[in-house]
Amino acid sequence: MPEFQEKTQILQKETIAADVFRLTLHAPSIAAAAHPGQFVMLQVSDSLDPLLRRPFSIHQTSAGGNIQILFKAVGKGTAQLGGLNFGDEVDCIGPLGRGFNLQRTGPLCLIGGGMGIAPLYFLAKKLSQNRWRLRS
Ligand SMILES: Cc1cc2nc3c(=O)[nH]c(=O)nc-3n(C[C@H](O)[C@H](O)[C@H](O)COP(=O)(O)OP(=O)(O)OC[C@H]3O[C@@H](n4cnc5c(N)ncnc54)[C@H](O)[C@@H]3O)c2cc1C
Repeated sequence: MPEFQEKTQILQKETIAADVFRLTLHAPSIAAAAHPGQFVMLQVSDSLDPLLRRPFSIHQTSAGGNIQILFKAVGKGTAQLGGLNFGDEVDCIGPLGRGFNLQRTGPLCLIGGGMGIAPLYFLAKKLSQNRWRLRS
């Protein structure tokens, strides 16, 4: 599966709940290749602290080559990411991982807890698109 490294720009930052944020990032190559259940690795700071990238599920992709991530600030890296704003740049590698199996038929129930819900929106959208295509 193809993966890319992109210098993304924050197009939108939404505060969803206390310490929970949704970022829209312009990442055309990653958005075009992404499947539900895959994730990206974000460099949350230009400095060496924190040194390591942080992983986030792809919450959804949208027209125009954008991806969204939904995350909770729980530590140093996510707090720094939550402090970024419109126009800031974030280095992003992805899409990574194998993603969900979309070949299943029959009724499906999507269950997620806490920030485990982050990838389910993309999954629900893709499943409903596939099923609509099968019916028509
Ligand atoms: C594949 C994947 C996808 C993910 N997708 C998402 C997503 O979509 N949304 C999301 O919100 N999260 C997601 N996560 C989790 C997210 O990556 C982590 O919350 C993030 O990396 C934490 O980084 P941090 O620097 O903020 O926290 P860190 O500083 O690395 O801390 C991580 C946790 O350890 C605790 N901790 C840190 N230091 C100590 C200490 N000394 N003693 C005790 N406890 C300590 C912190 O309180 C925190 O809960 C995902 C993780 C993976 C592996």
